[in-house]
Amino acid sequence: MRHSLFSIVRNAIGGNRGWPAQWREAAPKPEYDIVIVGAGGHGLATAYYLAREHGISNIAVLEKGWLGGGNTGRNTTIIRSNYLWEESQKLYEHALKLWETLSQELNYNVMYSPRGVMMLAHTVHDVQSAQRHIHANRLGGIDNEWITPEQAKAFCPLLNIEANIRYPILGAALQRRGGVARHDAVAWGYARGASALGVDIIQNCEVTGIDRAPSGEVTGVQTTRGAIRARRIGVVAAGHTSVLMAMAGVRMPLESYPLQALVSEPVKPIMSCVVMSNTVHAYMSQSDKGELVIGAGTDAYTSYSQTGALHISAHTLDAICELFPAVRRMRMLRNWGGIVDVTPDRSPIIGKTPVPGLYVNCGWGTGGFKATPGSGHVFAHTLATGAPHKFNAPFTLDRFRSGRLIDEAAAAAVAH
Ligand SMILES: Cc1cc2nc3c(=O)[nH]c(=O)nc-3n(C[C@H](O)[C@H](O)[C@H](O)COP(=O)(O)OP(=O)(O)OC[C@H]3O[C@@H](n4cnc5c(N)ncnc54)[C@H](O)[C@@H]3O)c2cc1C
Repeated sequence: MRHSLFSIVRNAIGGNRGWPAQWREAAPKPEYDIVIVGAGGHGLATAYYLAREHGISNIAVLEKGWLGGGNTGRNTTIIRSNYLWEESQKLYEHALKLWETLSQELNYNVMYSPRGVMMLAHTVHDVQSAQRHIHANRLGGIDNEWITPEQAKAFCPLLNIEANIRYPILGAALQRRGGVARHDAVAWGYARGASALGVDIIQNCEVTGIDRAPSGEVTGVQTTRGAIRARRIGVVAAGHTSVLMAMAGVRMPLESYPLQALVSEPVKPIMSCVVMSNTVHAYMSQSDKGELVIGAGTDAYTSYSQTGALHISAHTLDAICELFPAVRRMRMLRNWGGIVDVTPDRSPIIGKTPVPGLYVNCGWGTGGFKATPGSGHVFAHTLATGAPHKFNAPFTLDRFRSGRLIDEAAAAAVAH
């Protein structure tokens, strides 16, 4: 364990408030080496690793709202790496390994909790698909195991495994190293780390245009706080990537959908793992505050509204009450939505664009929180060197032209 007694005591009394300082709220400078658009977890992690690993700190992270107020602060925080395809496994496993030591790395408690993620199988097709994943994961050196309904019940006593329920449980895939983390702490931890290394974090600064030289390369951005010059621009603006890239004349293979979640009133600890059901599209865990965190599906229609259709969450609650009858009478405390941008193959795009100096990191859809440290790490490498890191090399924009897709859509149906 790399915790010092001091850091254990500090975290126990409420994290790192005031030590040594929160991030610095900066005023924009006229010129930067790199401008990152979007102060979510991915953008902030990118800035942190650029400064920490590549020695580049003349960076501004521009945020139209407040830090972490996008999907980073709205998601249900499921972390896992048991994806089907080798390319995805490597990328998400890279992130999972970084999660394991992130609190120590940032000296900020991100409350990563590897409590196990269990994915239920309700049909013969589910069983076959889950077992295919498990075999693929084992070949890739990633933990994932098949458990019986009785073992699932032992792992999560709340679960109803009776045979006569609407969604009978035929077994489950369990990744024990999967889990959850505290979403806003991740944004704050990376922000504080980047700020301490000299990065400017500028909130309430919406990018409204991308400037290009007559020869094509980017020269800076127009913002609600004036023009800012930059040699390189990294767009990390989940849900709004297409809007930003259109400012530079680049058309993206993305659609934006509302995705919603809800939490119950807080109760004493009743659930010590994450349970997901991809078939009925409901999943649940319990936060450290005691609330049951419940995730629903995306709306059927594209939209930029940060709320989802009520029938989607009603369906999710139906399923939750069937799977966990003990929670049937609990009250829901609040619900909300975020905008996720989705690629045709449900895998991200991380890398160069046809515009010199313009880079993009997007398309994480419903499942990018888990990737935050890995995504920032490989995107920083790409921005710093102009070449992809080995883990993001397959995740090019060009794959939608060449047809070399990484189809986690057909593989997983859901990608939280
Ligand atoms: C309800 C819900 C549940 C989810 N559950 C999970 C889960 O359990 N596990 C998981 O792995 N993932 C989950 N996700 C997905 C995950 O939240 C995202 O993939 C991830 O957080 C994306 O991080 P980000 O930093 O790229 O985006 P964001 O945190 O959205 O950051 C992008 C930022 O860009 C800013 N921006 C946009 N346009 C501009 C502009 N013009 N100028 C300046 N700034 C701009 C936005 O304000 C925003 O703050 C969920 C998402 C939602 C909505």
